[in-house]
Amino acid sequence: MKTLRSHVCGHWHEATTGFTELHDPCSEQVVARVSSVGIDFRATLEHARSKGGPTLRQLTFAQRGDLLQSMSKALYADRDALIELSLQTTGTTRKDAKFDLDGATATLAFYANLGKELGNRRVLVDGEGLALGRTERFYGRHMRVPLLGAAIQINAFNFPAWGFAEKAACSLLAGVPAISKPASSTAMVTARCVEILVEANILPDGVLQFICGEAGDLLSHLGPQDALAFTGSAATALKLRRTENLLASSTRVNIEADSLNAAVLGPDVAVGSDTWNLFLKDVEREITQKTGQKCTAVRRVFVPASMLDTVLSELADRLGRVVTGNPADPSVTMGPLTSARQLEDGLAGITTLQAQARLVLGSGHRIDGVGNPAGTGFFLAPTLLHAPEARAATAVHNHEVFGPVATIMTHDDSAADAAALVALGQGTLVTSVYSDDDAWVSRFVEAGGAWTGRLYLGSSKMAEQAMGSGLVLPQSIHGGPGRAGGGEELGGLRGLEFYTRRVALQGSRKMVESLAEMR
Ligand code: NAP
Repeated sequence: MKTLRSHVCGHWHEATTGFTELHDPCSEQVVARVSSVGIDFRATLEHARSKGGPTLRQLTFAQRGDLLQSMSKALYADRDALIELSLQTTGTTRKDAKFDLDGATATLAFYANLGKELGNRRVLVDGEGLALGRTERFYGRHMRVPLLGAAIQINAFNFPAWGFAEKAACSLLAGVPAISKPASSTAMVTARCVEILVEANILPDGVLQFICGEAGDLLSHLGPQDALAFTGSAATALKLRRTENLLASSTRVNIEADSLNAAVLGPDVAVGSDTWNLFLKDVEREITQKTGQKCTAVRRVFVPASMLDTVLSELADRLGRVVTGNPADPSVTMGPLTSARQLEDGLAGITTLQAQARLVLGSGHRIDGVGNPAGTGFFLAPTLLHAPEARAATAVHNHEVFGPVATIMTHDDSAADAAALVALGQGTLVTSVYSDDDAWVSRFVEAGGAWTGRLYLGSSKMAEQAMGSGLVLPQSIHGGPGRAGGGEELGGLRGLEFYTRRVALQGSRKMVESLAEMR
C-alpha cells in the first residue's frame, strides 16, 4: 500500500505510525495511507520563514511569475497521469478530474502572467501619492509589502489540485512561502502534484512545503507575520479561528467555508428562451458536477410560483438522465461521493431537509453504482426536493448537503422577495440570477448584493459564452460573507492582498516615490 509522504525542511518525510487510510470510493478498498507523525512543525515553519521567504522576496514579480509558469507547465506535462490517478483514487469522472487539474494549471498560468505584467518590481503600490503638507515636499503614498512569515494553506477534499494551486499561486507571487496541507481523503492527487514539482526541482528550498496528514501543533507556532488560509467546513473553521495564539498575534486568517448558494429565476424569463435554457443547464450542472461536492454548487433554487411545475418536471427529467456509477464505465456521467463520511453526512442531510421539503427525485438512500459491484461504493443519485413554504424552510437555508442535492422553492415575483429568501442562507459564495430584465436584476443586486461574494447574472446576451455559476475564475474574487466564511481569494491582484501588508509612507516626495517604485 502506498504511504503518502510530506515534503518539509527540504526533505521527504515518510511516517511509520499514526496512519489514516484512504479509500477508493467505488471499491471501498484502501488505496493509500497518510500520517504526519514525526514532523517537526516548528522547524517546518522556521524553514519557510528563514529560507523560503528571503529567497522569494529577493525575486521580482516577473521572476516569481516564472516559477508559477514552470509549476503550471510541469503539472500540465503530467496531466493525463494525474487525471488517471484522480479517477482511480477519488472516484471522480474524467470530466470532473479535468476540471480540477485544468483549473490548477490555468490559475498558476494566470498568476504567472500577472507576475510578468508587474515586471521588475518587488512591492505593490496602493493608490496614488498625495501632498500631506502645504506642498508636495511632505508627501504620502501607500505600498504593499509581503508578510515576513509563512502562509499555511489548508484545503478541502473536493479540489485536490486546484485548491492547492490557487492558494500557492497567490502567496508565492506575493513573496510569501507556502506550507500546504491537503484534506487527507483525496491527498493522493495533491501528493503527486507536489512530487512532480519536487522532481522537476522548480522551486527554491523552503518556498513550498507539504504536509500530508494532520496539522499537528503547526498552528500553535504561528505569529503576527504568518497567515492561515483555510478552506473547509464551517465547524473546522470555527475551531481554527479560536486558536489562542492566532487571536493573540492578530495572525491573518482567511476562511472559505460552507455556502448555501442560490439560483434565482426572474419572472420575465419565458419557457424555452435562451435564458431559460441557460438556467436549466446551469442548475443541472451545478447539482451534478463533482457529484455536488463543490463549494459553489447550487443548493437552493428560487423560481416564480407560476413556473414551479415546469421547472420541477424539466429538472427532474434532466437529472433523471444522469448515470451515477463507477467512472471507469463509459456510460457513467456522475461518480460516487468521495468517502464513507461524505455519504453518511449526505444521507443525514437529506433527512434533515425532508422535515420541510418533499422528495421530487431520488430516494434519500445509497444506491448501487452503474458498472460497480452491488453493495459497494459511496453512491448517491441526484436528489431534488421541493419546499412549499420557502420562508419556513429553515433547514434548507441552514444545512449544506455536500452532494448532488438541491431544493426548489418559490418567490413572489419581486426582486425584493427573491433577495430576502436568498439572504436566509446567511451568506453565499455565489448567487446566480437569470433574467433579461435589467431593472429587476438591479433591484435584486441592491437588496441582496451584500449577501454574496459573486453574482452570476445569466441572460440571453451572455448565454453563448457563459461558463456556469460554479466556475471559479482567477480574475474574479472567490469567497463570501457570513456562513461562507467571510473570506476572499483570487480576483487578480486582489488575491495578493491577504499575503501583503499595506504600509503608509510619509516623507519627502523623492524618497516616498523611490520607495514605492522599489526594485
Ligand atoms: P473539513 O473536514 O473541515 O476539512 C478541511 C481541511 O481542514 C482538511 O484539510 C482537514 O484535514 C483540515 N482539518 C480538519 N481539522 C483540522 C484541525 N484541527 N487543524 C488543522 N486542520 C484541520 O472539510 P472537508 O470535509 O474537507 O470539506 C468539505 C467542506 O468544505 C464543505 O463544507 C464545503 O462547503 C467546504 N468547502 C468550501 C469551499 C470554499 O471555497 N468556500 C471550497 C471547498 C469546500 P484532514 O482531511 O486531514 O482532516
